[in-house]
Amino acid sequence: ANKIKLGHVHLSGCTGCLVSTADNNLGFIKILDNYADLVYSLTLADVRHVPEMDVALVEGSVCIQDHESVEEIRETREKAKIVVALGSCACYGNITRFSRGGQHNQPQHESFLPIGDLIDVDVYIPGCPPSPELIRNVAVMAYMLLEGDEDQKALAGRYLKPLMDLAKRGTSGCFCDLMTEVINQGLCMGCGTCAAACPVRAITHEFGKPQGERDLCIKCGSCYGACPRSFFNFEVIDEFEDISEIIAEALK
Ligand code: SF4
Ligand code: SF4
Ligand code: SF4
Repeated sequence: ANKIKLGHVHLSGCTGCLVSTADNNLGFIKILDNYADLVYSLTLADVRHVPEMDVALVEGSVCIQDHESVEEIRETREKAKIVVALGSCACYGNITRFSRGGQHNQPQHESFLPIGDLIDVDVYIPGCPPSPELIRNVAVMAYMLLEGDEDQKALAGRYLKPLMDLAKRGTSGCFCDLMTEVINQGLCMGCGTCAAACPVRAITHEFGKPQGERDLCIKCGSCYGACPRSFFNFEVIDEFEDISEIIAEALK
């Protein structure tokens, strides 16, 4: 089968999302061996200009004073069939929302936007960083969506739909999403996943329920993305075994 063309577009972030991608170790190498050619990556491929891509994984937010970054994200949208916001900086701005410039070399760099404020984004992979497994699953499912048979395309569509719905939901994320959409709805089961996902330990558990510290929250959206009672749909949960088997088979 044909490999898909995969790109990693690196904007304003810390490279932690790429490290998490590479943390798939042999799985990442398998993906590059069997399913995807890496056609663009500041760190891993010597390519200067944004090429045509099937899937662009965009890490980091966009500094709007940096015209090259603004141009790069616009070009990415023009040239990629599927644009994926990889990680919370790309999805929600995350820590870069709090940047105020002042860096030694580029003091004029002071405003950063999540990529969805500049272009249409197809898929969100939330997390700071997202787990290696989630990135790997999206890569395999994107391959199946583009190159698979009819059944694989349908399964990949169902797997990716919640992450596509998340992309439509907007570019703001904070603990308040969990509060209004999970906890206040009586859906929280006190599992602690949100606290474990929070990169700044802004969530504690009291009386079995999460409590968010507003002053600490960097608005990364990781807690909402990781919560099993938030956006994931029952269809995917019902098909969890099938999905796990297909991914394990794909990475053999
Ligand atoms: Fe780094 Fe987190 Fe931003 Fe990824 S989402 S680039 S890990 S700060
Ligand atoms: Fe991110 Fe933590 Fe804030 Fe949730 S509470 S949005 S995980 S910083
Ligand atoms: Fe509750 Fe969701 Fe947090 Fe689990 S991850 S404790 S269900 S809010």
